[in-house]
Amino acid sequence: MSSDCLFCRIVNRELPTEFLYEDDDFVVFRDINPAAPVHVLLVPKKHIRSINDLQKEEGSIISGLFMLAKDMAKEQGVNESGYKLLFNVEKGGGQVIFHLHLHLIGGWKR
Ligand code: 5GP
Ligand code: ZN
Repeated sequence: MSSDCLFCRIVNRELPTEFLYEDDDFVVFRDINPAAPVHVLLVPKKHIRSINDLQKEEGSIISGLFMLAKDMAKEQGVNESGYKLLFNVEKGGGQVIFHLHLHLIGGWKR
């Protein structure tokens, strides 16, 4: 937990945010500035700055995120139409919130 981290504050319910999903390890909520009709963020509760900071023993967080992404894609109704999964890494990679998260983006009409 990092008190100056926005996503830690959301995880800890200090900032009111509707969770689409929550378990012991992850929360999922809608992106405040969606880039597509479906844009949700899959967020480990553990504070990890970015992919660069992942430790080997944290590999289960990454596999857990992808398994959850598959389920959330179905729940959001985009599993068949298709979607993108994205990690932004550090400033040059477009990361603005330095608490690891996976974007699930989809729902375009194509
Ligand atoms: P990044 O660029 O770090 O990968 O993505 C951070 C995402 O968090 C952005 O898409 C941004 O719109 C979203 N975001 C920033 N602040 C908030 C917030 O307070 N609530 C929610 N739900 N999303 C946020
Ligand atoms: Zn954090």
